[in-house]
Amino acid sequence: MGSTDKAVITGFICRLCSKMNRFVIHIYGEEGERMKLAEKINTYLPITVNANDQLPKTACLHCIERLEAHHELMEQFMFARRKLSSENKSTTITTSSTSSTSIDTTTASSSPPPC
Ligand SMILES: [Zn+2]
Repeated sequence: MGSTDKAVITGFICRLCSKMNRFVIHIYGEEGERMKLAEKINTYLPITVNANDQLPKTACLHCIERLEAHHELMEQFMFARRKLSSENKSTTITTSSTSSTSIDTTTASSSPPPC
């Protein structure tokens, strides 16, 4: 395999699916930075990208689309979790007995980050 000649490459290798693709976005390029691609990849995916690593810094549009969809889904889940946990708190307070107890709501439960 003559992999030494880089001139024959007709596209870029996607960091996420490892396929050669002509239409990619550079993770650390202007658009990639705007879309926070590196941040999303490092947050959601089991891989880590770093500006100084030796691996490709490009991602194909198909993968980015899926990453964006995943991000939206996660945002939705986070929103639902916040909403439910706050609702849950208020309902448990109201359904408690008549004796007024001081419930500490200042310490919000913060779960550790996914990774
Ligand atoms: Zn891809």
